[in-house]
Amino acid sequence: MQTEVPHVIGIDLGGYHVSAAVVNPEGHLIGISERTVERFRPPAEVLAILVSAAREALERSGLGHEAIRGIGVGLPGTLRPTEGLCLFSTILNWQDVQIRDPIQEALGLPTCILNNVHATAVGELSFGAGKDVDNFACVSIGTGIGGGVIIGGEIYRGDSDSAGEVGHITVDPDGPECVCGNQGCLEALTAGPAIARMAAESLKLGAQSLLTDMAAQSQPIRAEHVFRAAREGDALAIKIWEKVGRYLGLGIATLITLVNPRRVILGGRVSQAFEFFGPSLKEEVRRRARVVPRDFTEILPSPLGARASLLGSAATALAEARCREVATVPKTV
Ligand SMILES: [Zn+2]
Repeated sequence: MQTEVPHVIGIDLGGYHVSAAVVNPEGHLIGISERTVERFRPPAEVLAILVSAAREALERSGLGHEAIRGIGVGLPGTLRPTEGLCLFSTILNWQDVQIRDPIQEALGLPTCILNNVHATAVGELSFGAGKDVDNFACVSIGTGIGGGVIIGGEIYRGDSDSAGEVGHITVDPDGPECVCGNQGCLEALTAGPAIARMAAESLKLGAQSLLTDMAAQSQPIRAEHVFRAAREGDALAIKIWEKVGRYLGLGIATLITLVNPRRVILGGRVSQAFEFFGPSLKEEVRRRARVVPRDFTEILPSPLGARASLLGSAATALAEARCREVATVPKTV
């Protein structure tokens, strides 16, 4: 099927999953494919799954290959986007991996890559809670924690594409070790694995909870179980989310003091539990961020949810496609 409207494929690669979707310029997802990925698999294996998810998304969209102008891939780690390289990623356990070229060759479409948290911020800017503001920050809480800062309507990348790493702000100098090697990072205290660890430790000390049976049967507890238990009114789970909110508030107060954003948008799977950690987070921010006018910054969960990174990757691919088309106009006139 021929179409004049440019579509792209947006891809979100995480520690445990790949999502791919055909996206139109309004940010609507037309065909979606989701795959799980075993943690820490070699790059070639993960990229093959990613390519197959992209093909499936295209098939489900009902569009032909000729309707697609490009591909945007968001992934966790420190990247060199202009060279298509992932320099290192603790979440994927990759180092010096060429991402762009194999995808481009396999799918025959121009491909760009970007850090998935930067992608989240671009997603909010293009289609989400950042559409109507020039200065905002995104904090994405999942297996790890990332951040993206939009200043003057543009992503602030920093000198080496690593700006906004809010997950690695120290919030407890004597806290648990973080994957980055520091102690007491926000990520080590509030990302999914940290929430699961907090629950497991409390249960080991004899706390009574809806999660007690799971622990007794040696079933691994994950953050989503702590979320579900809180929804059922479990006192231990509710207490854990309050503690998570306080730590998040410490980190976000620092971010607000430094950047003075209009909004802080919380994304990632863990932010689904905002109703449980939001109140203590906001309270902590009010206590700590005292220089920025009180209540100036809105703190809210992302309206795009877990799709923000995919949509931002798609928005970046759309922008690059438009640039290429503008650049080729004089030759075709
Ligand atoms: Zn860290």
